[in-house]
Amino acid sequence: MITHRQAKMRRRPACRLRTPPSLFPLPALAPLFYSVREPLLLIDSHLVLRAVNTAASHLLERHAHDLCGRPWRDAFMLERQLARDWRPNPLLQALATGCDQELTHDTHLICGDKRVGIRGKVLAINAGPRRFALLCLEPSGSTSESASVISRSENELLLQHLSRLNTVSELATGIAHEINQPLAAIMSFIQASLRLLADDNPDIERASEALAEAVSQTRRAAGILERLRAFVGRRGLQFEPVAINQVVVNALTLLSSKISSGGVRVSLSTEPALPVRADALQLEQVMVNLVRNAVEAMQVLPEESRLLQVSTRMLAGRVHVRVTDSGPGLPPAIQEQLFTRFFTTKADGMGLGLSISQTILEAAGGDLDASTTPSGGACFQFSLPTLNHKDVRNGSATA
Ligand code: ADP
Repeated sequence: MITHRQAKMRRRPACRLRTPPSLFPLPALAPLFYSVREPLLLIDSHLVLRAVNTAASHLLERHAHDLCGRPWRDAFMLERQLARDWRPNPLLQALATGCDQELTHDTHLICGDKRVGIRGKVLAINAGPRRFALLCLEPSGSTSESASVISRSENELLLQHLSRLNTVSELATGIAHEINQPLAAIMSFIQASLRLLADDNPDIERASEALAEAVSQTRRAAGILERLRAFVGRRGLQFEPVAINQVVVNALTLLSSKISSGGVRVSLSTEPALPVRADALQLEQVMVNLVRNAVEAMQVLPEESRLLQVSTRMLAGRVHVRVTDSGPGLPPAIQEQLFTRFFTTKADGMGLGLSISQTILEAAGGDLDASTTPSGGACFQFSLPTLNHKDVRNGSATA
């Protein structure tokens, strides 16, 4: 039976349920927060509810603007069925310790007369000096196990897509500059050929050469746009044989404007490698995350000391990829949390790059390892199993 409040909620357009993104306390996370299908509630260190997504608003049967700015206990309570109340409240625990907390299987959400069993976790978001608790819920019993697994993997893909969009939006100025160069060259080649053809004795040969140059610059601009389109596009996974060296070059090319404007020298060393079975775009995202982090970490150094080393190497049937920088390295407090979702030390960071990279690599049979080099910089490395020649010839890897 639908309650009066539920009926009222359904009549209102979905967009009215949102906290205006401009009021969202973590702007980099706003698109993600409002796109996730599961209920999400963001609580600050004063125990005040700061944002509620559409699904959470439906679950609590109240509009976001009625909830935000109020103490969270006014909106709902978390209760456990089993009499083991010595366990601390997971929300308070996440805020106090800065560590993620799992909700135990007997947790219930109480709001008004409503009492629902819930699963999920509380993520601690450490955003500089501020700390938030993000309550991520999956109402238990409302979805079958397989449906929730599907929606979890859909959310993972959405997260990866949003993270790529965020990367591209940060790179936008550099990319615009990169496209401007071939456009300016095209313009001058065409002007030159017009001049040559307008002459009393038109120099057809040189005009053709200038036009051929214009065509090749047009291809260059189209190539930049194509790479960008492929990177921001949203599509299903395509597991196929992937040439890792090409992935490395694509990522470095995509980031070329950030690398050069960041004053970073690049040393690239690749060994011929057998293909790996993976999704090419996902691997490119991993490389983009690692290189981008390295470039950003080195900005605290004088320009002449900024060195990025990228290498690939074949060893025992696996391809090993290493990204090393000469930045400040990974102090233990950072190293411990590197792969924790939403952990960031950057003012505009999302804290998703490394956790997403780890998930992608694990799905492809790899691992991601981070360490500080003897000279003090950070080194991120991973290895992936390669396909043997027979697999590639038979096409079995593309299944
Ligand atoms: P974001 O880049 O949005 O902060 P990431 O998950 O990619 O998210 O990185 C998390 C944190 O790990 C960064 O904020 C930074 O503190 C640390 N980190 C990542 N790469 C490096 C690196 N190469 N050198 C030093 N610190 C790093």
